[in-house]
Amino acid sequence: MGIYAMTGGATGIGAAVKEQLRAGGNTVIVVDIKDADIIADLSTEAGRQSAIDGIRAAAAEGLDGFIPCAGLGPNVNPYSLISKVNYFAVVATVEGVKDLIAKKRGALVLISSNSASMPGMNENYIDLLLAGDEAGASSLIDTLDGHSAYAGSKCALTRWMRRNTAAYAAEGIRMNAVAPGFTQTPLTEKVMADETLGAVIKEFNESIPVGRSGQPVDIANVICFMLSPASSFVCGSVFFVDGGHDAMLRPDQF
Ligand code: NAD
Repeated sequence: MGIYAMTGGATGIGAAVKEQLRAGGNTVIVVDIKDADIIADLSTEAGRQSAIDGIRAAAAEGLDGFIPCAGLGPNVNPYSLISKVNYFAVVATVEGVKDLIAKKRGALVLISSNSASMPGMNENYIDLLLAGDEAGASSLIDTLDGHSAYAGSKCALTRWMRRNTAAYAAEGIRMNAVAPGFTQTPLTEKVMADETLGAVIKEFNESIPVGRSGQPVDIANVICFMLSPASSFVCGSVFFVDGGHDAMLRPDQF
């Protein structure tokens, strides 16, 4: 049985991944701001460091996989909090435990979103994220909007994954991303309750080709496949798990 670490395992998609891995007899070290083995606020540098230290202390022998799942939705303000948790915390924790994953030739699954390929991105913001400029990205995004912050953070994370895939593979780490569509979790409950975003998202959901929104287990099933040896030749892929929305919106791009 394996040993895995993850962030954001308290609720939603992360909780479903945690349950599925534990049901398979694996050990899962969970970092979250609440209800976790390691309590850490990943929006801060101190929180990221304590998450890394906690994982390193619990899994010195190495990790079979790491799933940085903690994230905030587009309704959160200030918008810079979204970039801090969805982008900077992911890159920092991945880099902080990378050698542990390499030790066991393990797998990394990042959580993108099908919004990462949607139009209306602010490329300056994405460039600042990819350059690691947390102060610059924060100042810019606080003047923009929640969609730009959220979709931009997921777009940058996906590009970061693609740019680093070969280097990570050379160290024995398989890195992939899952891009969920609308999935019913506490995050999307808050978005639906938002005065401005709620109505837009409701209409968007009604156009999902398979005729329903996702459940956390739909996403967890694919994440667990990407962690497993059954996917040993899958590397650098972005799996859309969105009921067909991305194919409907971008039929000629793949
Ligand atoms: P969720 O709110 O249920 O889970 C997010 C988790 O992150 C929670 O456990 C929360 O406590 C934790 N978290 C938030 N801020 C934190 C912080 N500062 N420090 C530490 N932990 C923190 O939401 P979810 O929908 O399950 O989201 C999981 C991931 O999936 C996120 O990265 C999200 O962006 C992504 N995603 C979700 C959807 C969707 O429709 N639900 C779609 C695409 C991508």
